Order: sequence, then C-alpha cells, then structure tokens
Amino acid sequence: MTSDPRESDPVPERDWDRAVELVSAADEVALACHISPDADALGSMLAVGMALRAEGKRVTASFGERRFRVPRLLRFLPGQELLVEPAAYPAVPKLMMTFDVPVADRLGTLAANAGKARELVVVDHHASNTGFGTLNLVDPEAAATAVLAEELLVRLGLPIGRQVATCLYAGLVTDTGSFRHSSTTPRAHAMAARLLATGLNPEKIARELWDRSPFGYLRVLGAALDRAVLEPSTGPGLVWTFVTRQDRAAQDLPYDEVEGIIDVVRRTDEADVAVILKEDDDGAWQVSTRSKGAVDVARVCATLGGGGHARAAGFTSHLPVEQTMESLRALL
Ligand code: 5GP
Ligand code: MN
Repeated sequence: MTSDPRESDPVPERDWDRAVELVSAADEVALACHISPDADALGSMLAVGMALRAEGKRVTASFGERRFRVPRLLRFLPGQELLVEPAAYPAVPKLMMTFDVPVADRLGTLAANAGKARELVVVDHHASNTGFGTLNLVDPEAAATAVLAEELLVRLGLPIGRQVATCLYAGLVTDTGSFRHSSTTPRAHAMAARLLATGLNPEKIARELWDRSPFGYLRVLGAALDRAVLEPSTGPGLVWTFVTRQDRAAQDLPYDEVEGIIDVVRRTDEADVAVILKEDDDGAWQVSTRSKGAVDVARVCATLGGGGHARAAGFTSHLPVEQTMESLRALL
C-alpha cells in the first residue's frame, strides 16, 4: 500500500496541462455544479471559485434550478457571494467548468449554457461520466470531486487557505461518509491532513453538515421510520420508506432537510439495499438508493433514468410510490 497522494490518477498529464493553460489564460470563468447540490458539488465549485477570484479573475458560480436556493445545511460554506441565479449566468461562457456533474442533464437549466460554452472543463469522479466537456478531468477512483478540485488548484499554483480548504473538506468528508465508505483511501486521508493543516474547524463542519436540524425534522424522521418496510425476500434484502410533501408541510420542513434520513434507514442489518423516496415541492419523487456492495445501485438507477455510484445512486420518478418500488424490485 502506498501513501502517495497521487496513487492513482487516470487523468492524462496532457489534460491537466490543458486545464492549467485554459484557466490561466482566462480572465472570466463560469462555474456550475449539479442541481440539488451536495457538499461535494457546491464545495468543489466554491473552492475553485474563491481561489480563482483571489487571482483577480471574474467568477460566476451557479446551479440550474428554477427555484434557486442553497440548501440550509450548506450555507455555512464560504464563498456564497460568488453565487448568481441561473438567469444571471453567462449565456455563452468563454470558459465554463462543471463540478460533480456526470451528465449534462444534471446541470438543469445550465445545460443550455454548457452547450454554448466555447470551452467546457468537466471536473468529476463519477465512473458513469459521459465526457460531455471539451476537456474532461474525470477520475472514478477519486473519493470526491473535491480531490480533483484540489489537484487543479495545486497544479495552477494557487494557495489553498482555510476558506478554500473548508469547502474542499466538506466535499471530501461528505463523499467518504466521514471516512467510512470504501472510498476512504490513503489518498483521501492525506488530503484531509493537508486541509486540516490550514486551520479549518472539522468539528464545526461536521455539526453543520450532520448534527443540526429544526425540531420538525424529528417528527418527519419519526414518520419515515414508522412506515419503513423490510423485504428480506427481495433479492439481496431491501429496506425502504418514503417521505411525502404533506409530512414536510406539517412541520414546515424544506426538502433538503430530509436528505440525511437514508443514513438511518441504510443501517438495517437484514438489507443490502436501502431506498427512500422523497416527494419534492413539485410532487416528483426523488429516490435515493444505497447498497452495501452486493448490488450495483448505479446500474439499477441508470436503468430508471438516474445514475450515481455503485453504492450510492438515485433517480427521479413521476409514478406513485408502489409503482416506483415495483420497477425497482424488478431490477434487484
Ligand atoms: P443522493 O441519494 O445522496 O441524492 O445521491 C447519491 C448519488 O446518486 C449522488 O452521488 C448522485 O450522483 C446520484 N444521483 C442522485 N439522484 C440522481 C438523479 O436523479 N440522476 C442522476 N444521474 N444521479 C443521481
Ligand atoms: Mn461527489
């Protein structure tokens, strides 16, 4: 085993060189991450954005949602002042960069801007990445997109101070499940050590990300756990539940507050696969799936129009809960 932070890096040197050339030459850069951003997507984007702005570049950053809103639990991330509504985003960016986006669809409304960008640099760690950029910095072995964002900043020769490090750390710690998932490599820990050395506050970051919520969350969590179903007879063993719009409305709880419930559901010993269906404000069901390894949920979710990683993936369903579960079961 090696402790080399660059132990595996399938991004060819010439692609890194090209990225450094493109970014160094630009005085204006447009950044985007996937819709419903998580800490890795938003954190990687804001980290690069802050570092580039400190270099004197004009930076805009966004994600393509009609109801543009940063999830409450990500508002502690530094660099929010870089964010603009999608409507204010450059229509034809000279240089656009995307973070944690495996397919152009996941850019939401900004997919149109990406389609018109003169140069589109895709920074991502999904094995399913389609390579939709003019330049693709994609490493499926990287624990998080933040790993690639850090490497880019290092190659650009830009300093990584406490604020930039906070954003990168939030991405790393989220995508490794607090250094619990299979992505917890020497490379991931070495990066954490470098980031911690900037003086960031890991306790505060962890509390913001996982250990706080409005009181109403307890009630919604209770309802979700109360209706959880265990199906040991379904393929590898399945545990699933759902959260409705009404559940949330009764507690005045925004959609993004229920993202963490899957982490309680998936602890079920009797199931390899855990699923939660979350009804969003438009009445669509956002389905999160997790696997302990026997099932490749990225494949299952891709079949249902979504995607993700082998052990954490998702898709959107416009069918009722039971019908959605029927199609899911059939694939397990
Ligand atoms: P989560 O369940 O935490 O929302 O998402 C887990 C993983 O699944 C994420 O890394 C993301 O890549 C992927 N994912 C979730 N929802 C979707 C979706 O609707 N489409 C695609 N392509 N991927 C998704
Ligand atoms: Mn990620």
